[in-house]
Amino acid sequence: MDPNRLKELGLLPVWRVRPGAIAGQSPDSGKNMSDQVETAAESRPFEESEDRSTSIAYADWGRLRQMVSGCTACPLSQTRKQTVFGVGDEQADWLFIGEGPGAREDELGEPFVGQAGKLLDNMLQAVSLRRGQDVYIANIVKCRPPGNRNPQDAEAEQCRPYLLRQIALIQPRLIVALGKVAAQNLLATDASIASLRGRLHEFSGIPLIVTYHPAYLLRSLADKAKAWEDLCFARDTMRNLQAAHSS
Ligand code: URA
Repeated sequence: MDPNRLKELGLLPVWRVRPGAIAGQSPDSGKNMSDQVETAAESRPFEESEDRSTSIAYADWGRLRQMVSGCTACPLSQTRKQTVFGVGDEQADWLFIGEGPGAREDELGEPFVGQAGKLLDNMLQAVSLRRGQDVYIANIVKCRPPGNRNPQDAEAEQCRPYLLRQIALIQPRLIVALGKVAAQNLLATDASIASLRGRLHEFSGIPLIVTYHPAYLLRSLADKAKAWEDLCFARDTMRNLQAAHSS
């Protein structure tokens, strides 16, 4: 997207969060996650000698699925029933990213199918979207953290190349980060949701909007109105992005 066009549309400035802000990251991994997206949509055959992140960075959808389902890179692989890869339109304009599978997702192998998922579907419907139709849904980690705890930094880091490759393959027009874990991981910050929502961020050149996690909204009805504002902001942003693209 031409930055001048974004500016005309009132979509700039996009807010970049300082890199390396997640506690405990090594200098190498401390880069903003968005710096690490393999931008080429190209894929090529897997070579046995390649290191893990290189082979993930060049995997096609089939190979990527295979790699995720056999992944043992972190301890979550020992307690999961199955991996939860992501679901939806592989060429979607919209990419929603949550934190990690819960019990129901672990059983069914699909993201957001429990109570929080029902609310997410309603949220999508409210802005005329439907799961699978121009929408892709993924998570920061592909395996259920036991007891529904938050994924640890090291777990998110091991899973990161998979999500980066999904993003590179989908090339979404807009990313919506659902909740604190997704927002903090994607933007490499420890800032609160309250301070991140309501403005446009950027992830590897892709506009990114932050909103509350549906599971949090199930417990905090007062913030539903704010989530609705975020969705309207996302819908308007998408309209502008699509209009800018087609003009
Ligand atoms: N919460 C998430 O963040 N992701 C899911 O897939 C389900 C619940």
